[in-house]
Formats: sequence, C-alpha cells, structure tokens
Amino acid sequence: MPEPAITLHTPLTKFRGVGPTRAAALAKLGLHTTADLLAYFPRDYEDRTLRESIAVLPPDAPAAVSALIAEPLRTSYLRPGMDVTKGRAVDHTGQLELTFFNQSYVRRDLHPGQAYVFYGQVTVHGTRRQMTNPLFEPEGKWVQIGGIVPVYPLTAGLSQNFLRTLLRTALPACLSQIEDPLPPALRAEHQLVGAQEAYRAIHCPPTWQDLQAARRRLMFEELFCLNLGLTYLRTRRECESALPFPNQDLSALTGSLPFQLTQAQRRAIDEAAADLRKPTPMSRLLQGDVGSGKTVVAAACALFAYQNGCQAAFMAPTELLAHQHQATLETLLRQAGLRIALLIGSMTPAQKRQATAALAAGEIDLVVGTHALLSEGVQFARLGLVITDEQHRFGVGQRAALAAKSGGTLHPHVLVMSATPIPRTLALMLYGDLDLSLLNELPPGRTPVETYLIHENKRPRLYNFVRKQVALGRQVYIVCPAVSQEDPDGLKAAEQYGHTLQTEVFPDLRVGIVHGKQRSKEKQAVMAAFAAGDLDVLVSTTVIEVGVDVPNASLMVIENADRFGLSQLHQLRGRVGRGTHQSYCVLLSDNENPQTRQRLKTLAATTDGFALAEADLKQRGPGDFFGTRQTGLPQLRLATLEGDLTLLQEAQTAARQTIQADTTLTHPDHQALRRRISALFQEKGEIFN
Ligand code: ADP
Ligand code: MG
Repeated sequence: MPEPAITLHTPLTKFRGVGPTRAAALAKLGLHTTADLLAYFPRDYEDRTLRESIAVLPPDAPAAVSALIAEPLRTSYLRPGMDVTKGRAVDHTGQLELTFFNQSYVRRDLHPGQAYVFYGQVTVHGTRRQMTNPLFEPEGKWVQIGGIVPVYPLTAGLSQNFLRTLLRTALPACLSQIEDPLPPALRAEHQLVGAQEAYRAIHCPPTWQDLQAARRRLMFEELFCLNLGLTYLRTRRECESALPFPNQDLSALTGSLPFQLTQAQRRAIDEAAADLRKPTPMSRLLQGDVGSGKTVVAAACALFAYQNGCQAAFMAPTELLAHQHQATLETLLRQAGLRIALLIGSMTPAQKRQATAALAAGEIDLVVGTHALLSEGVQFARLGLVITDEQHRFGVGQRAALAAKSGGTLHPHVLVMSATPIPRTLALMLYGDLDLSLLNELPPGRTPVETYLIHENKRPRLYNFVRKQVALGRQVYIVCPAVSQEDPDGLKAAEQYGHTLQTEVFPDLRVGIVHGKQRSKEKQAVMAAFAAGDLDVLVSTTVIEVGVDVPNASLMVIENADRFGLSQLHQLRGRVGRGTHQSYCVLLSDNENPQTRQRLKTLAATTDGFALAEADLKQRGPGDFFGTRQTGLPQLRLATLEGDLTLLQEAQTAARQTIQADTTLTHPDHQALRRRISALFQEKGEIFN
C-alpha cells in the first residue's frame, strides 16, 4: 500500500509496480492519476465465475472451477523446443486433466494437495474433462478467476493482469471519494444507481445485472452531462451581443448564378438570414451532403455581412481547399463588389503582410484561409461573420477571442458547414448549442455514382476498367488506407502501391501519389496537376476526402474498403460524380465478415448520406458519432459500448428540464454537476464559468 493514503489525485507512479516504463505505457492510455484509472472502463468481460464442480463444466466453452492438485506435475519433451507438462486436479465429482505446452515452469507453481482455481476452454472426452493451457491462481486470491473479470483496452507494456491488480488496489481505496454529479432526485426518477456503486460494478461486477445497471448509469451520466453543458452554452450565447445585419439583398448574388437555388438552399439561406437580423450571434450548423451546394449559402451570408459594413472570414480545412474556395467565392461575389483575399501559411511574408494590413485597414471584405487563420495574430477592422468548413465545433473561447480581435465586445456570427451527415436525433444531441440547417436535396441534373463491391480476384478486370475510363479522357482516384508499407496489417499503402501501379501496371499512364506525410507544397503540386488533367490516376490516402473539386474524375477505387466507416466511404465517393460524366465507385475487399459485407453493400445500394448515417447508427450504435475527429466534443467513454438511443433521448430530456429549472446551475443540489461539466468542457478549451 502506498503512503500516504490514496486519493483521486494520486499519481499512478506512487503504486507498487509502476516504474518509468509502465508509467509511460499508462500515460499513453491517458492514465496519470487514480481518477483517470477509475474512469478507464473495461472494453469487455469474461465470465470466470466458479462453477459448482468439475462434473458440471460445460463442454467446449471457457469456464472456471476450483480443484485440488492431485499429484506432482510431469513434463515430457516432445521434440526440441516443444515440451508438455501434464497434471491432474480433482474435486468430489471428478477429475480435470491439465495440459500445458511449453510451460514447464507451472510445476513450480502448482503444488500437490493444494487448491487452485482454473479457467480455460473445457473439452470433454468420454468421462474425462480437460483444459489446455488454463489460467490458474491459488484459491481465494480472486484477481483473475472467480467472478466476472474485466478486459481492458491495452497498449504495449501493459498486461490485463497488471491493470486488474492496479484497479483492485486503487478502487477500494478511493471509491468513497467519488462525488456523484447526479442529484438524488434525478437518480430516483431515472432509476440510476449511485456513482460509487456504478464505478465499483463496472470494474468488479458481482453479477451481470449489477454490471448492466452500472453501465446504464454511467452512460446516462455521460450523455446527460454532455447535453447539459451544450444546453448551458446555448443559454449563455443567447445573452451575448452581435451586430445585426438588417440589410439583406440576395439579388446581387442570385443575379450572377448560372443556376437556380434549390429549395433546400433557399430555406437554409432564409434561416441564416433570420439569425443574422438579430442582435445575438448566429451559431448555425449547415449540414449537407457533398455536392449539395453549401458554398452558395456561405456566400449569401458573406454578402449580408458586406451589405452591413462588416468583414467575413471563411476557414477551410486545408490550404488547397482555401485556394479553391477563394476562387469560387470570387466568382460568386465579385459582381456584388466584395473585395476578397487569401491568407494562408505558404504565402510569402510580404504577401501575408500585405493581406493582414489590408484586413486591419478594412480594405478586405472577405478573407479566405485555413482554420489557423484566426490564431495567427490577424486583426480585423470589423469582423462580423465567421464561416468554417468541416470543423464542427467553434468554442465559446474562440468566439470570445474573435470578439476581441474585431476590437469590441460584440461577437461575430458563426456559420459552421459540414458534409458529415448525422442522423437528426443525434445531431440535436451533438449540437445542442447550435441551430441546424439541412441541405437535404442535391442540385438537379446529377447522375448518381454507381457503386460496386468486388473481391480481389476481380482486380485484373478493375485495371482494365481504369484503362477504359482513362481512354475516354476521364481521371481516376485510388484510395488506400495506409501511407507506407511500414503500416501494419498488409494494407495497401499509397507510396509503394502507387509506385507499383506506375512501373508495373500502368507504365503508359500518368500516375500521381499524394498522402498526408508529404510536405504541403508537394501535396499541393500533385493535387494541382491532377486537377489540371496532367495526371490520369491519383493514388492517395484519405487526404483527398476533403480535396479539390475535379469534375473530370469519374472513377473512385477504394482499397481495403472494410477499413473505412460508412460515412467516410460516402465522403470519398463524393469526390466523383461532380461533372456530367457517369461516375463509378469500386470498393475492394476480401473481408468475409457478414456484418462488414452488409455494411459495404448498404453503401453500394444508397447514395443518400443521411440514410447511410441512419444505417451506421443502426448497425454500430451512436458511439461512432461521438468523439469522431470533427465533433470536437468531450470524448464519451461508454457510448461505444452501448447503442441505446432511448437512453440518449432520456438524458437529453432530463438535461433540458434541469436547465429550465435552474438556468445558471446555482442550486446547491447542482454544485457537483456544475463542477463535473465545467471540467468536461474546460478540457476542450471552452470557457465555462
Ligand atoms: P458542397 O460544398 O456542399 O459539397 P458545393 O458548394 O461545392 O457543394 O457545390 C457543388 C457544385 O454544385 C458546385 O459546382 C456548384 O456550383 C454546384 N451548385 C450549387 N448549387 C447549385 C444549384 N442550385 N444548381 C446547380 N448547381 C449547383
Ligand atoms: Mg464544400
């Protein structure tokens, strides 16, 4: 036992057996203190509850039993490098034969006449029962065997046993210090067990029912706290001030469009326009499938800012996209009179100085850059609107910083755009602090991308198809899950595979390679060459997921397609079918897992991003949608274990009721809750007080 007493803040290095190596491994899992450890939940459980006797051990299943070693164990040598140690354990009902391969050391640990518990796969031969390489420990020790045993996610340098032992020391020592953020009345109403009971049972469940109750309680807590935090943020935002944009004349934009706005675009623009007329900051998420025409909606908002004497900033995820957006926005808004500038890292210092000076002087109306745009000491004369593409969350902290940048206490309006479709139920949860506009309609005249799922053995035919497309003047994307062959699992790697394709398969075609490990300049050059039609085939990693628009590309090949999530596959597919040519998406996978095949077939059968998101939700539960790279929300630990939408809705309703009853969370019953939420969001850089 470490001295002094263990608290929730005790560093794990204070525990016996945690030296520098293990401390580093624990840190890799984000585990530094006892509190981290307690919140590190098992990914699975094994039923190692002791069976009554040897005679009732079920055949061909793993099981645990207590028995007495009957005689000394004997090792025989089968051949060099292979020995077998055999023993016999007994109880009043029968015999259990024990066989250990290459574990002759067990002779030292298993003493005749003493009782042990064994856990292993049971086989039955006639009247004999047998276990090969079972786990065992002295009876009564109860670390590995004797109950429902947790299985933790591991990393190199840590074993299950080590983590279990660590938890067994830490848990009892500081269980009583755990504060329950859920007020008793709420717990009673939703039939939730207390926090201490839940933490105990999630790590050491006495029964499966206890485990179920613990998981339900902890998941409710996560969902509830997340939702409460978002609801609170929203209430706070409604008290902030922004400059209203009463002058709104859309004709300056629509007049220069070569097409009619879709119904969905009109509705989204109307919704944003209504927000922008108010003296509170807009905070709107615009969700629409790839190609649904989000840029025009953004342009409309920028136009309104301009018509009210304000500047707008448009932020893209990559420099490449910033370039492309700048070009598009120029075309859309030049006629309306907006002065548009690009500001990205790769510009020369002189170019940057010129752009920043012009921004500060108010000589630029719309600046386009990457997400870093706002952190680079840029000053605005009068920033009224921020638009971000593919970055879901825009923190309160960031908004406050922006207000300071624009030289006042007024907050800019914020429009967040996303092509990641999220089912509405979840969107309401994930973006409880944002208003939502949907572009659920594609502009007319698009031909849906034909999608096929094929096996490796069709590869030669696929190569022929690539040639055919190129012969027609089209271009082809080939996406690989890995960058280089050093990546594990024999996945297709962009570097080597690209090289092989160029030298062996398509020596007569122009093949380019692009991946995330290249320098930005290099990437940009390859992408630009592809966009200009100077390359026939582009072999890449998912960096092209949010890449430039190449309407001439008509074929998307995705290697090891089973490695990607449905939404990601859908995003990748959205790279083709942007022009007038019939386009194709080919998914390569030899993965025979029926669920995986079903998932990939769903993609082949559906082109509607929202329907796919619903399918993802049904098949994999809501966990996948939380903590994905774009949501930027506090990570949920349990939501991946359980796909319980009902609970999610229950937590959401409870959060709303709690805020309605106590808007500022100042009631004494809510203090623990307030601390919990504050900690949760502080981690993410939100200012929460
Ligand atoms: P998103 O950003 O949502 O993926 P974009 O804004 O890039 O989509 O638009 C995709 C393409 O559709 C662009 O070439 C754009 O000019 C075109 N487009 C946008 N709105 C319409 C419309 N209402 N009718 C026809 N084409 C449109
Ligand atoms: Mg876009």
